[in-house]
Amino acid sequence: MVARTHDLAAFTTLSIVAAYTPLPQMTMATMLVSLAANFIGGLAPDLDQPTSDLWRRIPAGSIWGRILSPLFGGHRMIAHSIVGIVIIGIGMQWLLSSIAHILVVDMNVVWWAFMIGLVSHIFMDTFTKEGVPLLFPLPWNFGFPPVKALRVKAGGMFEKSVIFPGLMLFTGFIYYINYPKFLDLFRNLIT
Ligand SMILES: [Zn+2]
Repeated sequence: MVARTHDLAAFTTLSIVAAYTPLPQMTMATMLVSLAANFIGGLAPDLDQPTSDLWRRIPAGSIWGRILSPLFGGHRMIAHSIVGIVIIGIGMQWLLSSIAHILVVDMNVVWWAFMIGLVSHIFMDTFTKEGVPLLFPLPWNFGFPPVKALRVKAGGMFEKSVIFPGLMLFTGFIYYINYPKFLDLFRNLIT
């Protein structure tokens, strides 16, 4: 799927989790950093292709992309698998704890927001024709529905005209029916 769909899907998933799980009290800074982490998590698996949108958003990203993306073993390989989720999750925990003294936010919340974005990305890619190699290094690609012909072409018309607007409406609906919960979340922000 294209970056725009992944951005939105990450935010949708984060909103669902925020609406239906008990949230810790957090500061405004924690909330903002978590939103950014969620966004980056939602795009992170596609760092395995040098043309990824996330690379393009980083200074000199196209050069970094060409150097670093082969480390992932090619597009839709380890970065789109369960092993990949675990490795990236551990790496992220290490990274966040090493910057915890510079960036004073609740890193636990930030980590969860990142991971929610990451998992939402792989979940969304299961609906595409290529599927995802969940059990990498085993060479099977999983998709939903299992019949490939019924799946979506990444970046195609169906994604743009049905999935993206559908996700937008759905996200709006989540906020609409859980309005009191989100209002509480903002009221309880620690300053
Ligand atoms: Zn992907």
